[in-house]
Parts: sequence; structure tokens; C-alpha cells
Amino acid sequence: MGSSGDGEFDVIVIGAGIMGSCTAYELSKRGRRTLLLEKFDFLHHLGSSHGESRTIRSTYPELYYPPMVLEAAELWEEAQSEIGYRVYTKTPHVDVGPADNKSLRALIASCETNSIPLRVINDQSQVSELFSGTFTLPEGWTAMVTELGGVLKPTKAVAMFQSLAIRLGAVLKDRVEVIKIERGEGAAGVHVFTSSGHMFKGSKCVVTVGAWTEKLVNSVSGISLPIQPLHTTICYWKVKEGLEDRFSPERGFPTFASYGEPFIYGTPVLEFPGLVKIALHGGSPCDPDKREWWRKSSVDSVKSWIEQVFPGCVETGEPVICQACMYSMTPDEDYVIDFLGGQFGKDVVVAGGFSGHGFKMGPVVGRVVAEMVVEGEVKGVEMKHFRIGRFVEDPRGNAKEHEDQVNSLINL
Ligand SMILES: Cc1cc2nc3c(=O)[nH]c(=O)nc-3n(C[C@H](O)[C@H](O)[C@H](O)COP(=O)(O)OP(=O)(O)OC[C@H]3O[C@@H](n4cnc5c(N)ncnc54)[C@H](O)[C@@H]3O)c2cc1C
Repeated sequence: MGSSGDGEFDVIVIGAGIMGSCTAYELSKRGRRTLLLEKFDFLHHLGSSHGESRTIRSTYPELYYPPMVLEAAELWEEAQSEIGYRVYTKTPHVDVGPADNKSLRALIASCETNSIPLRVINDQSQVSELFSGTFTLPEGWTAMVTELGGVLKPTKAVAMFQSLAIRLGAVLKDRVEVIKIERGEGAAGVHVFTSSGHMFKGSKCVVTVGAWTEKLVNSVSGISLPIQPLHTTICYWKVKEGLEDRFSPERGFPTFASYGEPFIYGTPVLEFPGLVKIALHGGSPCDPDKREWWRKSSVDSVKSWIEQVFPGCVETGEPVICQACMYSMTPDEDYVIDFLGGQFGKDVVVAGGFSGHGFKMGPVVGRVVAEMVVEGEVKGVEMKHFRIGRFVEDPRGNAKEHEDQVNSLINL
């Protein structure tokens, strides 16, 4: 390793999932010489941003997420028109659950405050008619239908942002594991060290390492962020023969979330013909470096849910395909997007803890982090909810009215 280092950049971004890739793109757009480092192969399956589908929806119980989703939806469209292919398939979105569920009540209020048109339907026959006889609304449940929904293609989308960043001059390197970040002298005063003995210098650095955030930030700064990795599984189920078409986006089948116990989400038949994604929102604590790939999650609660909500439409023998992934949970399920502080001051930004709902926000997180790096402040997003300091004030983080749902996702 030479004392001058292996290269000098305006910004070094560590971790090339959706957040790092969007950030590298936004920084390059702002003319910053950007280096994006990834410890595995690009587009690997060991983190959180791989696979075939992620939901985009504007319905959140918290007031501060919907405006971010609205901006993200525009940025997704801009990026795909810039690259020339599609990563975003639009559908409606429906949230269902017991009518008295606190999160659902909060979600209605949040849509009203944010002027997001929402159709609340309590009548089973209307829901059935709207979605070609697929959904059955159990007694006492309610359905909320919004226009902004849809499916994002994660691996393809990460590749898209990486390509756009490269076009704008970013340097991308994979199989480069960062093991240390240190304060150095001069303008390029952030020194990033790799396990292969290289050192890169940057004026600024961004840490977007997903489930590895707690480990890396702790080793660099001694700050222990309450970000818990969860091992989670997505399952695809076979639609009964002859009904496949009714579950397609072309027939208006929505992305969906079901609140209460179990907390379920899903997407239309799209990536695998005849299979619909229906998954449990949650998982079990894991060490991202020692994953138990052989561990099978129980799908009993998903089966019962399918029998209740899609009776006679989806086969509940066993899921046809299961894929593993990781969530990075914070205690309040809000993101962490902040300056690291301490000896690094505003020169290192951390963006992690996306708590199983970050993918849709990738482009807006990229924009916000790039502004933090370039301007030192952010326009248009209320950053106070994402501060590291909130866990010092209260280990549970931001107060939530819908506590029934928050942190119900960790299944031990
Ligand atoms: C099953 C599942 C379903 C989901 N569904 C949705 C959904 O429907 N809608 C939604 O909005 N969100 C969803 N999410 C959440 C969303 O996918 C994540 O919030 C998002 O992908 C997190 O991206 P990231 O860039 O923070 O992390 P990652 O994608 O994990 O990227 C971090 C990267 O950093 C790299 N790295 C780690 N350590 C180092 C190091 N020391 N040096 C160099 N590189 C390093 C890792 O290898 C990795 O590539 C889902 C997540 C899962 C798992």
C-alpha cells in the first residue's frame, strides 16, 4: 500500500446495494468524482437489494414517508427513461386488515393529511368485483385502495443505477471489502482501507452497507447503532389453474399488504408465470456473515392467511419457490440517515436501517445523501426522524402511535 493511497476521490461510497448505487448516481450527477466499493460481486444475492420484485406504495401510517414516496416515484420514472428500459410496473395498491387495526387507522389519517386519494371499502362484494374475484375480505375487515402502487425489479434497478453512475464518470469496484475508515490529513481527509491492503482517499465518505451497518460503524467509530439484521424469506405460491390471468397487473391485480397478525405482503403474478408472491413481513435475527441458509421459515401462518383471503384461488400445499433476503431493523422501523459525527464530523454520512421498507425510496435516499455530502443539508425531507441521536434520547427511537405493528416483525 503506497502512502499516497490507491486513488483520490471526492466521495467514496461503501456498499453497492440500492442505496449506495443511487447515491453514487446522484453524486456523479452533481459532478463529484465518485468511487463505489462493494465487498461481494455486483448484483449478488447476499444482501437486501436482489431479486425480482419490491413493492412501491404511498400508504404509510407515518406522515413523513408518503411525500418521499411521491418524489421517489417520479425519480424512478426519470431514471428508467434515462436508461431506456423499464424497472417499474405500475399497479394499484390495496391495504387490508381488521377495521380497528391501529396502523390501518393511522394510514387513513396519513393519506388524508398528505392528500393521497384513498378509497375505503368495507363491502366484500365490492372488493371482489374490483379485483376480479380474487380477494375475499374477511368479516370485520376493511380494504383501502390507492392508485400509486406497483412492482420494482430490484436486481435490474440496482444495475440500472450503477450503469447510469458509470455513464456519468463514477468508478465502481466489486470484491473490495472495506475494513477501516480513518481520519487523514488534508482535503482528501477520509482514508478508506480494504481487506486486500489498498487505501483510497476521499474528501467525503458514505456508508451504505445494509445489514453490515452496525458492524462497520461500530468498528470505525465505536458508535453502536441499534440496527438488527433479520433473515427473511419470500415465497411464491401457485395460482389455481385457469385463474392466473386474474392475478396479473394487466387485469388490475394490485400490490397488497395485510395488517394485523400475521403481517403479510405480496405482488401480482409477474416474475414467474402462474406464481403469486405472498410473504410474511418479518424474520429472525441473524449475523450477516453467518447466515443459516438451511433454516426453513414456517409458512403455516401464510397458508392460513391465503385460505382466508384468496380461498379457492391459490394452492396452499407448499410454496413453489422460496428466496432468502435480509432486513436491517431499527427499533422504531425508521431509517438512519445522518452524519456520523465525532472525529468525522460531516465528512462521513451513514444511511442504513431501512427496516424492510427502503427499496422504493432508493432514488430519494440517493438524492438526500448526495445533498448532505455536497451541501451539508437537505431540502424537502424532514430529516429529524432519521437522526442517530434519537436512540440516545430514547433507545426505542421515535415514538409511534401504532405500536401494535412496530417491532412485531422479529420472529425468534
Ligand atoms: C424479502 C425482502 C422484501 C422487501 N420488500 C420490500 C418492498 O416491497 N418494498 C420496499 O420498499 N423495500 C422492501 N425491502 C427492503 C429493501 O429491499 C431494503 O431496504 C433495501 O434493499 C436496502 O438496501 P441497502 O442498499 O441499504 O442494503 P444492501 O442491498 O444489503 O446493500 C449493502 C451493500 O453493502 C455491501 N457491503 C457490506 N459491507 C461492506 C464492506 N465492508 N465493504 C464493501 N461493501 C460492503 C453489501 O455486500 C451490500 O451489497 C425488502 C427487503 C427484503 C429482504
